[in-house]
Amino acid sequence: MHVNVGLKNDEDDAEAESATVLLVDDQPVIGLIVRKMLSSDAAIGFHECNDATAAIDTARACRPTVILQDLDMPGANGLDLVMAYRSIPELRNIPIIVLSSNDEPAMKKAAFAIGANDYLVKLPEPIELMARVRYHSRSYMALLQRDNAYRALHEGRTKLRQSNLELQRLTNSDGLTGLANRRYFNTYIEQAWATSQKDASVLSLLMIDVDYFKLFNDAFGHLAGDDALQRVAQAVQGAIVEPMSLAARFGGEEFAVILPCKGAKAACEMGERVRRVVEALGIPHPSVAGASVTVSIGVATMTASVATRSTDLIAAADARLYCAKYDGRNRVVGAA
Ligand code: GH3
Ligand code: MG
Ligand code: MG
Repeated sequence: MHVNVGLKNDEDDAEAESATVLLVDDQPVIGLIVRKMLSSDAAIGFHECNDATAAIDTARACRPTVILQDLDMPGANGLDLVMAYRSIPELRNIPIIVLSSNDEPAMKKAAFAIGANDYLVKLPEPIELMARVRYHSRSYMALLQRDNAYRALHEGRTKLRQSNLELQRLTNSDGLTGLANRRYFNTYIEQAWATSQKDASVLSLLMIDVDYFKLFNDAFGHLAGDDALQRVAQAVQGAIVEPMSLAARFGGEEFAVILPCKGAKAACEMGERVRRVVEALGIPHPSVAGASVTVSIGVATMTASVATRSTDLIAAADARLYCAKYDGRNRVVGAA
């Protein structure tokens, strides 16, 4: 059985109070006296619990800034209760002032050892009780404010980091297809080129161009053309599974795939895979009845040297793409 004798009963108002005291003591008369002692300060909220078994629930409900804890209660050891508060995350840091008639140093030692913050022998002077309650409440509220400020700071930082990542993703990706954009392609190929030069490793590039796409647009309109480009882009992306590779929209209806550490043979095989998956999409093409959208692919492989630049690799892949177009389209042309 517990009773709340709120000098200020509205718990929503707790923040406006300078302190919220929970007295856990089996003797109602102690409650009456303590309440009277604290009543001179209207900013102190007061709750009382006479039943040790209800103390934890009451503390959870009234969120005190100080607990005044009796040690000798029927059916409960006050020290056990102190330990119980300390084991519950939301109550763990609430200051506990032991209020006991036991004046033994051994008892005080035991109380402090398990986490009590203060010890008052019943009954203290009102001025002393008031001073201790105010002191412990203030330090507890400062702790809460610090925790809240830290949490807000942490949340702010996490949000900022997420926004930065999202911004970076948007800066690097193409709005229509979601693939890497030309800007990121340029950055990536320069990095891959530098690695190739440092490690003397090979680097391959696929240049991919949709066949007769102007015709497609002319027949079906630009919106249908956009839709087809998105599907082709997804097919290109899906066909390239190498972890270091990058599929990008090079511009218009042209895509490029950077393949670090892949030789000519492997790169041609990947080109062929891309060609096949695009064809397999079966997007109808207006050129002749039964035709579908296809791509032509030029493949180039180089090892970077001081005498060459990444644009040489792009030019070489572009030249092979031109050959693929010239040879009849829907094909892969490479050195392998
Ligand atoms: P080829 O087989 O020689 O590559 O012929 P092609 O018609 O594909 O080549 P061309 O360069 O003559 O035309 C490319 C077309 O791609 C023209 C252009 O309108 C279209 N295109 C480029 N970017 C986009 C785009 O973002 N959306 C749409 N719908 N069309 C685009
Ligand atoms: Mg083109
Ligand atoms: Mg084209």
